Amino acid sequence: MTVTNRRAKRLEQLPPYLFIEIDRAKEEAIAAGRDVIDFGVGDPDLPTMRFIVDRMAEAIRDPKNHPYSLGRGTLAFRRAAAAFFQRRFGVELDPATEVLALLGSKEGIGHLPLAAVNPGDVVLTPEPGYPVYVCSAVFAGATCHVMPLEADNGFLPVLEDIPAHVRQAASLMWLNYPNNPTSACAPLSFCEEAVAFAREHGILIAQDAAYSELYFGPPSPSFLQVDGAKDVCVEFHSLSKTYNMTGWRIGFAVGGADTVSALAAVKGNLDSGVFGAVQEAACAALDNSDHVEVRAMLDIYRRRRDVLADGLTRLNWKANRPDATFYLWVPCPQGYDSMTTAKRILDEADVVVVPGVGFGRCGEGFVRFALAVDEGRIREALDRLGRIEW
Ligand SMILES: *Cc1c(COP(=O)(O)O)cnc(C)c1O
Repeated sequence: MTVTNRRAKRLEQLPPYLFIEIDRAKEEAIAAGRDVIDFGVGDPDLPTMRFIVDRMAEAIRDPKNHPYSLGRGTLAFRRAAAAFFQRRFGVELDPATEVLALLGSKEGIGHLPLAAVNPGDVVLTPEPGYPVYVCSAVFAGATCHVMPLEADNGFLPVLEDIPAHVRQAASLMWLNYPNNPTSACAPLSFCEEAVAFAREHGILIAQDAAYSELYFGPPSPSFLQVDGAKDVCVEFHSLSKTYNMTGWRIGFAVGGADTVSALAAVKGNLDSGVFGAVQEAACAALDNSDHVEVRAMLDIYRRRRDVLADGLTRLNWKANRPDATFYLWVPCPQGYDSMTTAKRILDEADVVVVPGVGFGRCGEGFVRFALAVDEGRIREALDRLGRIEW
């Protein structure tokens, strides 16, 4: 009996990966020596900020940072996260019980259902959305109920539309504001509505705040600003996009002590903590969240956003000017679906964008541009896009 090709059945339940065709076409274009401009990846093109790298360089030489870093994260890191939360959102957190260090927020997002969901439960997932919400529910033996995010409702889910039997069976609801891929923000009134809904139906809200600090308009609230939210809400924060630290793997979860403790119990059996030196560098980041280098980066993204949005508008695309995230979520030209739009843009302009349908069926009709491309290249891409006849 051969076991070399054994794959667990749960892997078959994962949604299909829809970017294969575009990925292949992009690889072929690059291999053929074409000058590809890539708006596809949601990964900053800028280096980690200097003041953080400098702290890391010191921290890595300190032997106290070399062993396992067991537990919920160093107390220094959890205190820095709590202090940041107090400054930024006016929310008091107990570093001992309400903050948990993560190996990047994706790690915590992926493990939360193992800590908070029973097999057979329903998990409410926004669509279009970050694919990990669905995959982690599958791994926990749950089923998903899609909450469509429509432009007409500001890409917020319509909670009244969730059927009664689904509310009954649901134990977890994913939200993500500022949102990837739509770049929508949630006002505090929506946070209040969601918290009241969760309380009424005994559902845990898991809010993915990976983009909370990447803003150009009014800063987005934390769901924990709502009175009593800690009873029904856990929020995931990340240093990845805020400080160009995607490769470093550091984020944190905040919320009620019970949920944080359940997630810590799962993690205690899976990983052995974030490298101590990374946690020390992360303290430097959180202590200096208003650093000139952070503001300079936001200015760069804001300029890129303006150049791209203005340029697309001149080309008759209906581009908006998002208040947060580094994404533009742009309707496809009339008569084209997202896959065909992305394919034509790649074939005819050597420009990569992500087809919206890759984020779920409700993402159809849009393509996503990530602002991880410098201004000069954005202008070049716009020149090329202008030559396509739709
Ligand atoms: C990038 C991203 C994350 C993951 O960030 P890490 O902290 O690097 O794991 C989580 N959620 C969304 C929506 C993202 O786009």
